[in-house]
Amino acid sequence: MIDSDPILRGDAQPEDFDRALRPQELDAFIGQAEARANLKVFIESARRRGEAMDHTLFYGPPGLGKTTLSQIIARELGVNFRMTSGPVLAKAGDLAAILTNLEARDVLFIDEIHRLNPAVEEVLYPALEDFELDLVIGEGPAARTVRIELQPFTLVGATTRLGLLTTPLRDRFGIPTRLQFYTVDELHQIVTGNARKLGAPADDDGAREIARRARGTPRIAGRLLRRVVDFAVVEGDGRITRDLADMALTRLGVDNLGLDGADRRYLSLIAENYGGGPVGIETIAAALSESRDAIEEVIEPYLLQQGLIQRTPRGRMLAQKAWTHLGLAAPRPAGQTDLFGK
Ligand code: ADP
Repeated sequence: MIDSDPILRGDAQPEDFDRALRPQELDAFIGQAEARANLKVFIESARRRGEAMDHTLFYGPPGLGKTTLSQIIARELGVNFRMTSGPVLAKAGDLAAILTNLEARDVLFIDEIHRLNPAVEEVLYPALEDFELDLVIGEGPAARTVRIELQPFTLVGATTRLGLLTTPLRDRFGIPTRLQFYTVDELHQIVTGNARKLGAPADDDGAREIARRARGTPRIAGRLLRRVVDFAVVEGDGRITRDLADMALTRLGVDNLGLDGADRRYLSLIAENYGGGPVGIETIAAALSESRDAIEEVIEPYLLQQGLIQRTPRGRMLAQKAWTHLGLAAPRPAGQTDLFGK
């Protein structure tokens, strides 16, 4: 998606598949307290009843733990975990092959479920509701439908864009769960634990500095931590202190709010070219040469959550905090004059 500053983007990169840092049990998972408390009940209930857990949908920005929680659910239920994603399931047959191989109560995880092909989605509905699959075999006059019984299973869907899910699909999830950005304290705990696992002890202030600048996202915290460890090993004595973290993050172009070059270009564009907005998302996308999706899914959620921008019906606007952060003076609202009538 966004080429610039990949270190700060929440979307997955290969090194994230480092299993050592992924929490394996619900109790080891930090943050998302509300989601975790609810899931605990649903998992326990499904276990006691010996049934498949209800279908679950996780939504929220990338890197907040949707995949991790899904794996934890399967582990806690004591069942297999199968993983695929919306864009990978090109044909109905692709999904059918996976569904017919599921064992009773297994968890099937579909990432980016908002990108399912409509023909595949059609096949999914009866599978979710009645654990049945209607497959069309053959073509033309010889075509016939066969019904295949499936084992009861749990679908866990993940999406960064709840709004792009069709209503019938959304309605089939018994447990929709929104994941929130993490607090600095939660990320502080995650960074401290991960630093220990990586064998590079972080002192309290060092871990906090990384946590503060990780955009509320554990995946980004993990990525920043690795880079800070590199600096600690090569240019320090291997320990992560506040000064070292600050030096490393500044050299990586991560500012004190955790914003990177792409975020600052976004804010500066609205400030300098559009007087603070409102400006439409398509215009911003064209000016930054980024896809609209990348801007809406990756850049904007954190800027909105931090109160740096506002979404209005006429487009995006900078908030006062963004002007201050950029070190610029906000223009006076049109028609308003100062005390002296100038
Ligand atoms: P998503 O599926 O929402 O994009 P992931 O589940 O892949 O996010 O998580 C991204 C990374 O962040 C993983 O490396 C994972 O280990 C880490 N992570 C996510 N949530 C937590 C958490 N609560 N505690 C510790 N690490 C986490």
